[in-house]
Amino acid sequence: MSKQKPKGRRKHVPLRTCVACGVARPKRSLLRLVRVQGSVVTPPVQAGRLEPPAPEQERGDGRAGASLPAHKIVVDPSGKQAGRGAYLCRDSACWKKALSSNRVLSRALRTSVSEDDRAALLAFLERELAEPGGVSEG
Ligand SMILES: [Zn+2]
Repeated sequence: MSKQKPKGRRKHVPLRTCVACGVARPKRSLLRLVRVQGSVVTPPVQAGRLEPPAPEQERGDGRAGASLPAHKIVVDPSGKQAGRGAYLCRDSACWKKALSSNRVLSRALRTSVSEDDRAALLAFLERELAEPGGVSEG
C-alpha cells in the first residue's frame, strides 16, 4: 500500500446522497445503513461472489402474508458491509424524517422496514445522534 501525502492537490472526495434530505455530502460525514439478511448471524466469507437469489415460491399455496423476505436494516459505521446501502446525514432531523415514513428507507433499500428495524434505528438515533451535549464535529 502506498501512502498518499495530503499535500498539493486535494484528493477526490466521494460523495453520497442522504436519502432523507437529498443533499450530497462527503461519504465520511454520512452514516450508512445496510440491508442484510435477517437470519444471518455470521456473514459468509466470499470473495466478491453473489449468491443466487432464493428460488421463487409457487403461488397457489394456502399461505398468505409473511411473504416478505427476511431482511434487516442495520447501521454500518464502517461503511464496508456488503449489501444494499443507503446514506443518512449524521443529523437527527434526517433520521427522523427517514423513519417517519417507511417509504424513504424501503425505497432506498428495496425492502420493507419492519417495526424491529425502526425501533433499532430509533435507538441508534437516540444513542448516537441525539446526545444532550450537542457534540459537534469539526
Ligand atoms: Zn440529510
